[in-house]
Amino acid sequence: MLGEQRIPAAERSAAAPYPLVARNGRSETTRVRVGAVEIGGEEFVVAAGPCAVETEEQVRASARAVAQAGARLLRGGAFKPRTSPYSFQGLGREGLRLLAAAGRESGLPVVTEVLSAEDVPLVASSADMLQVGARNMQNFALLKALGAAGRPVLLKRGLSATIEEFLLAAEYIVCHGNPDVVLCERGIRTFETATRNTLDLNAVAWLKTATHLPVIVDPSHGTGLRHLIRPLSKAAVAVGSDGLIVEVHPQPALSLSDGEQSLTPEEFSALMGELGRCVPFEGRTLASPRPEAAGPRATLCLRRLRERIDGLDEALARLLIERAKVAAVIGRAKRASGLSIHAPEREDDVLRNVAKLASGPLGPREIERVFRAVIEETRRAEESSE
Ligand code: PEP
Ligand code: MN
Repeated sequence: MLGEQRIPAAERSAAAPYPLVARNGRSETTRVRVGAVEIGGEEFVVAAGPCAVETEEQVRASARAVAQAGARLLRGGAFKPRTSPYSFQGLGREGLRLLAAAGRESGLPVVTEVLSAEDVPLVASSADMLQVGARNMQNFALLKALGAAGRPVLLKRGLSATIEEFLLAAEYIVCHGNPDVVLCERGIRTFETATRNTLDLNAVAWLKTATHLPVIVDPSHGTGLRHLIRPLSKAAVAVGSDGLIVEVHPQPALSLSDGEQSLTPEEFSALMGELGRCVPFEGRTLASPRPEAAGPRATLCLRRLRERIDGLDEALARLLIERAKVAAVIGRAKRASGLSIHAPEREDDVLRNVAKLASGPLGPREIERVFRAVIEETRRAEESSE
């Protein structure tokens, strides 16, 4: 409605058929706030938790584990859209209550699915973000109701939806009054049967250029296979995704739904460690493991933090070695052109460039101090190159 009123019919037909969600030359991605978390900014945001809320113990254990490992949102289905009517359908209202309590206890905002327009007020009264499942992406009554939900929406791509249909579904929510929509690529139906779905990373790259809305990836439903979550999560980072939603269960073998694609808490923690190494390469940040969420298990958290540091140190050392190798070639090029190895203006430029990246605990002076040492080593590599 909002959009219909604001955009004259002539303009609507000339531009993309989804004028409110189209990027239209905007360089910034829209930031969608979920509680204190912001999706679409510098941070790569990870949502994690069980496919379905099953018991109080299960959802609390999941919440604790994912919060400790650095997840920023807790996921969990209370109303489950199951392919078979005989499969576990979720705990309903009780599931919502348990999820909200686990979220409060672990300090994480919660995201959960809403199956119908009638349920929107109920789910919105207890969840921080409302999920539209793949099977409901074109439930237009639901999309319209979400326009007035007063909560951000996580819109999953339909099983066989084109990218345009996906964006038009988002347009429905926005033009009915709710601008806070995050898109989620969760795999599509193809002829392939080796994996549950085909995670369409083309779509993620395409969407990042076509819409200003944040886009996240669900490698759990996208692959259906636990051992593929790690590589596809890394691919999601590389392709420009703004975050992930991952299924984690304290005992996947006992899970009432999607156990084969759920990570154990240990596997999730290892995944976060690995993402901690690749996220900075895309110019983004990733939350660290949180000792506050670990309570009496703070020593375990300390171990994970040290593992995170070890991973970063390994990446740093490899980068420094690559840098020195390039410097050696530069040394040869300078010698071949009769230039002197020492180039003070160039070194000043390098220092100025890296100082611009200063943030958090490393201010421009600290960065400069570290890079003076790096430059000195590089000069040595240039001088000793043959
Ligand atoms: C889910 O997130 O548990 C879910 C049902 O996902 P999808 O709608 O993508 O199948
Ligand atoms: Mn699931």
